[in-house]
Amino acid sequence: MASFLPIAAMLLSGTLYAMGWGLKPAPLPTPAPVVTPRPIPPKPQVTFLESPNQDLRPAGMPIDCIVIHDTESPGVRSARRIANHFLNPKSQVSAHYIIGKDGEVVQCVQDEARAWHAGPSRLGDRVKVNDFSLGIELVNAQTGNDPFTDAQYDTLNQLVAHLMAKYQVPWERVVGHKDITDRASKRDPAPNFDWKRFFAGVDGILGETYARIPRP
Ligand SMILES: [Zn+2]
Repeated sequence: MASFLPIAAMLLSGTLYAMGWGLKPAPLPTPAPVVTPRPIPPKPQVTFLESPNQDLRPAGMPIDCIVIHDTESPGVRSARRIANHFLNPKSQVSAHYIIGKDGEVVQCVQDEARAWHAGPSRLGDRVKVNDFSLGIELVNAQTGNDPFTDAQYDTLNQLVAHLMAKYQVPWERVVGHKDITDRASKRDPAPNFDWKRFFAGVDGILGETYARIPRP
C-alpha cells in the first residue's frame, strides 16, 4: 500500500496541474496595450477678430461636424472683408473661420462657441447643425467659375486635418452647406470646389495617424 502513495500523489498532482490548479502558477494578466496618442497636425496661423454673432452650444454638446461654405461675394478676395460683415451685429451671421484667396485665415468665433453659419439645417436625423459643427467660409464668388486658389486649398486642408484630429470628426461628417441646409437658396460651396482634391489633401496630412472613414 505504501508503495502506491507516491504514484497516487503524482497522478493527482498531474490531474490538478492539467486542470489548472495546484502547482501551475496563475497566468499573468494580459498587459494593457500601449496606446500612443495620435499626433494632431498643427493649426494654421489665424488672426482672431471676434464676432458678436455667436452664443453657447447646448451644454455637453461635442463638436463632431465640419461645414464648408463659400462666401458668395464677387470681387472680394480677403478674409478680413468678410470678417467685417461677421463683426457687424446687424448681420446676425458668422463662422468660426474665413479663408481668403491668399490663404489668410481669420477666426471670428472660438471653436467651443456656437457660430451662426448653417441656418435652418439637418444632418441625418439631427437638426440645428450649428449646435454641433464648426463652420469654415472660403472667400469665393460662388459663380462656379471663380477659382478656389491653391493657397485656399492648402490652408483649408491643414485646418480641417487639425480640426478632424482634435475633435475626432469622421469624414462622413465633413460636409458642404448645401448638403445640410433646409434652404434651397443655399448652394455652397460652388460646384467648382474640388472635393476630391480637398479629401486627398487632408488624407495626405493625416496620413496613418488617423482612422480614415471612406466617404461615399
Ligand atoms: Zn453657406
